[in-house]
Amino acid sequence: MLKERTMRDRFKRNINYLRVSVTDRCQFRCFYCTPVKVNFTPMGKLLSLEDFKRLAYAFKQLGIEFVRITGGEPTVRQDIVQIVEVFSSFSSVSMTTNGCRLEKIARDLKNAGLSSVNISLDTLKDEQFYAITGSNKLKNVIRGIEKAIETNISVKLNSVVYKDNLEEVLDLALFAGHLGVPIRFIELMPVGSNNEQYFVPRKSIIEKLKPLKLKSTSVRLGNGPADYFITDSGNYIGLISAMSRNFCHLCNKIRLSCDGKLYPCLGHTENVDLMIPLRSSSNDTELRKTIETAIFNKPAGHDMNHSIVQTSMRRIGG
Ligand code: SAM
Ligand code: SF4
Repeated sequence: MLKERTMRDRFKRNINYLRVSVTDRCQFRCFYCTPVKVNFTPMGKLLSLEDFKRLAYAFKQLGIEFVRITGGEPTVRQDIVQIVEVFSSFSSVSMTTNGCRLEKIARDLKNAGLSSVNISLDTLKDEQFYAITGSNKLKNVIRGIEKAIETNISVKLNSVVYKDNLEEVLDLALFAGHLGVPIRFIELMPVGSNNEQYFVPRKSIIEKLKPLKLKSTSVRLGNGPADYFITDSGNYIGLISAMSRNFCHLCNKIRLSCDGKLYPCLGHTENVDLMIPLRSSSNDTELRKTIETAIFNKPAGHDMNHSIVQTSMRRIGG
């Protein structure tokens, strides 16, 4: 086995975090993520379990330490437990999920090595849940959150904030506090479509949280870009504000789409196709070289404040 090393891009950022989209399919149709008409990647073009095994080995050798499995909805894949197992030799393997299937599979995921889970929850109201996702599975999601907590998987909640759920921010924070888990409020990004008319900036979110007497803290939970506050009752609240407070200079992340394209930056459509070295040779030298070059050439940052990213969030992995 080759020696593992640290991988730096041309701006000297240490790239140690990989997000893997394992499918672009999902039971939900969140309006900010899914355009009305979706063209799914044909099943034969999705990365397979065998592909993940080779990729995991190559990424580990190149210095990736942390892996997050996402989508689309990762838990709709029949082999999701085996995929988690493939990545379980990294320092951590986490997942971002809509929570809908967690009640059924949280224990198997935990046994396969899942360290933590971020569960999306933008509202606590059935009708609003339907308006956002086109689904009436809010209760399944809540039961999924409870099951993950009970199973001792480390849980965080994620809420994308936009103009119609801004009034619920405080209730969502109180709900997370009641469960004893951190919650992160995410600014809407123009990926796949222009969401400008729904956009709410971080300062409006912080304003709604005033009753919790937030204190800024240098604590970082996980390896993502959130900055955290602590409430008067000791719960952590994070903000992920790619639009209002650019964190590109600190970015440690690359993304692998479900059809095998490596995206060095969410804010750019440039990518390299890893299916070519994966499918053309069983020797991993070319695969590693392709990944290395893509990481080295990672763009300095996104330009989402001025342009829409013409990429599907579900394919590239949110
Ligand atoms: N299906 C899973 C879920 O919803 O958690 C994982 C995939 S989803 C694309 C990952 C995360 O991206 C979710 O927290 C979702 O709310 C967020 N997301 C999707 N589209 C977004 C957008 N346009 N701006 C900001 N966050 C977005
Ligand atoms: Fe599905 Fe997640 Fe996208 Fe919502 S945000 S449509 S749950 S992939």
